[in-house]
Amino acid sequence: MTEHDTRHKVVVIGGGYAGTLAANHLRMRADVDITLVNPRPDFVERVRLHQFVAGTGDATIDYGTLLGEGIQLVVDSATRIDTAARAVRLASGRALSYDYVIYAVGSTAAVPSSVPGAAEFAFPVAEFEAARRLRARLAELPVDAPVTVVGGGLTGVETAAELAEQGRAVTLVCGGAMVSSWSAPGRRYAARWLSRHGVTVLEADVVTEVGPDAVVLADGTVRSSVLTIWATGFGVPGLAVASGLRTDTLGRLLTDETLASVDDDRVVATGDAAAPSGHPLRMSCQAAGALGAQAANTVLSHIAGTAPAVIDQALTGSCVSLGRHTAMRQLARKDDTAVNLYIGGRLGAAIKEFTCKVAVSRIRREAREPGSTAWVKGGRRLEQSASAARAVTSP
Ligand SMILES: Cc1cc2nc3c(=O)[nH]c(=O)nc-3n(C[C@H](O)[C@H](O)[C@H](O)COP(=O)(O)OP(=O)(O)OC[C@H]3O[C@@H](n4cnc5c(N)ncnc54)[C@H](O)[C@@H]3O)c2cc1C
Repeated sequence: MTEHDTRHKVVVIGGGYAGTLAANHLRMRADVDITLVNPRPDFVERVRLHQFVAGTGDATIDYGTLLGEGIQLVVDSATRIDTAARAVRLASGRALSYDYVIYAVGSTAAVPSSVPGAAEFAFPVAEFEAARRLRARLAELPVDAPVTVVGGGLTGVETAAELAEQGRAVTLVCGGAMVSSWSAPGRRYAARWLSRHGVTVLEADVVTEVGPDAVVLADGTVRSSVLTIWATGFGVPGLAVASGLRTDTLGRLLTDETLASVDDDRVVATGDAAAPSGHPLRMSCQAAGALGAQAANTVLSHIAGTAPAVIDQALTGSCVSLGRHTAMRQLARKDDTAVNLYIGGRLGAAIKEFTCKVAVSRIRREAREPGSTAWVKGGRRLEQSASAARAVTSP
């Protein structure tokens, strides 16, 4: 047997929080050839895209400062995982053969085709290229031009707040209670901040149509909107579906509790793109880093011929920036359900900035010391429900 035959080839698809950490974690074994495929040469800190849009922060980091020695970065997009040939097909026409794949393609901005004009006129914020277009459009507009942010979730609130602090005239259309997962005191705190900074919050209203300079609400009201930003939630890339692998209804790869695809245990999913037992964790960078380590552990167990561990991870609430000097850290139980306590103000802002920095510094630490990532365990995940079990696509 040659030395080549004894090495294990792992292709990590997607260099976000989960994939980059997983790639570094795989270096716990010296006999693994690790290739990371990502469409752009820089890491994107998606948690800072609202800052990037508002011109209050950057959102890219050179992979050279994040990846451990020996990891090969291929700047390309995977178009199909050919499980029969054990090869990842790339947009450039190249193919990468593998023993294992880590599926870490993350999530995308989602603009619904069901809302007339949304795809044509609204600007998403949740992907780097879209955020760059949005930033350029904002730069063309006078500061008092009416801006509508559609979506009362975490991304919508952060985006509305960031722009309002820059003096923009912002309306936030929530389509229901603003961040319904927060506690009532947490919601009141954020609402007061938004109101003090001039944001018009329309909680119950729904945008039903978008035009070049207006939005139409469900009750027929037409509101001037020179720029409409769409932030109603995330989608996922279609790679799993294109590869004939089963997914949940959104398109996340359906896995068992060790993150291995239910169709092929050589494909291991992580981060926003994973649906363990059809019951995914909340899409978050908080979950992604730890899931990256756990996906890499599953691959390492397969290589070692040992049984992989089931995932064990807690999510403990969210932290949303309200401009550059304030944030709201919603405290929560280990199953991510909010308690009636939050941390606001400058302390909240310090916590928020700390968590954003930690998400990146733990990747760097993993590059220096593979296996160093620790995470909060013991989070209760709901059992896979009958409806979740049905909510899968067939290959
Ligand atoms: C404005 C904003 C603020 C946020 N704030 C927070 C926060 O405060 N806290 C928090 O926990 N979460 C936050 N999030 C969510 C968080 O950013 C995501 O949940 C997180 O990035 C998921 O990490 P990931 O590694 O799974 O995927 P991603 O970070 O999305 O990385 C996936 C990577 O895979 C690449 N990729 C996709 N398809 C392919 C393909 N076919 N081939 C190769 N590569 C591919 C993508 O281009 C990307 O580089 C925020 C998101 C946004 C947009």
